Amino acid sequence: MAQGSAKIRIAHAEPIGQGARLLRIERVDGAELGFAGGQYVIINTGVTLPGGKLAKRAYSMLSSDAEQRAVEVAVKRIGAGPGSNVLNDIAVGAELEWSGPWGKLRLPPGFSGRALVIATDTGITAALGIARSAAAAGAAQLDLLWLVEDGETFVSEAFVRERLPAAVRLTVAGGFLPVGHPERPARACALVGDHVADGPRDAVLCAGDGAVIYPIRDRLASLGAPEGSVLLESFFNNPMKKSL
Ligand SMILES: Cc1cc2nc3c(=O)[nH]c(=O)nc-3n(C[C@H](O)[C@H](O)[C@H](O)COP(=O)(O)OP(=O)(O)OC[C@H]3O[C@@H](n4cnc5c(N)ncnc54)[C@H](O)[C@@H]3O)c2cc1C
Repeated sequence: MAQGSAKIRIAHAEPIGQGARLLRIERVDGAELGFAGGQYVIINTGVTLPGGKLAKRAYSMLSSDAEQRAVEVAVKRIGAGPGSNVLNDIAVGAELEWSGPWGKLRLPPGFSGRALVIATDTGITAALGIARSAAAAGAAQLDLLWLVEDGETFVSEAFVRERLPAAVRLTVAGGFLPVGHPERPARACALVGDHVADGPRDAVLCAGDGAVIYPIRDRLASLGAPEGSVLLESFFNNPMKKSL
């Protein structure tokens, strides 16, 4: 299926934790999305921002790419943010538009090596999508490191474990420093350094806080990761976007 815009319907919604929602979404025309685990869609929330632009927001699929007609996303409510509030409050059956799939955070087709997925915060959605899709394709040797604050109101560890294939080893580095803490990148690099002490990975895929995952890539490069073997998807604090 080619990338493009499509009309979508909220097929199912349920609360997760205190400030987030799990949505099952399908195209109104019943067509497949054609995504790979780790990719995302951009949802047009229909909200007009001050200045006249529409609030279009990215959400990564947390469901396996073995199922292409309906996908799952989890949306954390971010303060008074327009996109996340609309998607936390929207009625089941409502119709919106999305475009996609987008993104290069994905394992190469047929990948059979040793991979590490690193997620911070809400980046766990993309990590789940990658891990579940890799398992559905029979790929082996994948482990997942999740850096998350205590008391995070997004998905719980139980939510993640319930959905993670048995072959994937999950390490939860709880008690991680809060978003914006100046020591966050250094703490993350130390945790990742410990994690890869048992040997190199053929691929490392990172999603979440841009202030953390770019330094992680630099640390892995200094530890010998080949160029191009570490892929990043920044959900927020993207250092490549000057407006943040
Ligand atoms: C590739 C990609 C995939 C994404 N996947 C998901 C996903 O699966 N689930 C999800 O809930 N969100 C995801 N996001 C974030 C999402 O696109 C929106 O930024 C978020 O929902 C806030 O939008 P808003 O309109 O409510 O608030 P805005 O007013 O747009 O955002 C307010 C501020 O909060 C920042 N922000 C966004 N997320 C966080 C966070 N977790 N912690 C701290 N600050 C944050 C934004 O960058 C912005 O600076 C993803 C982002 C990208 C780029």
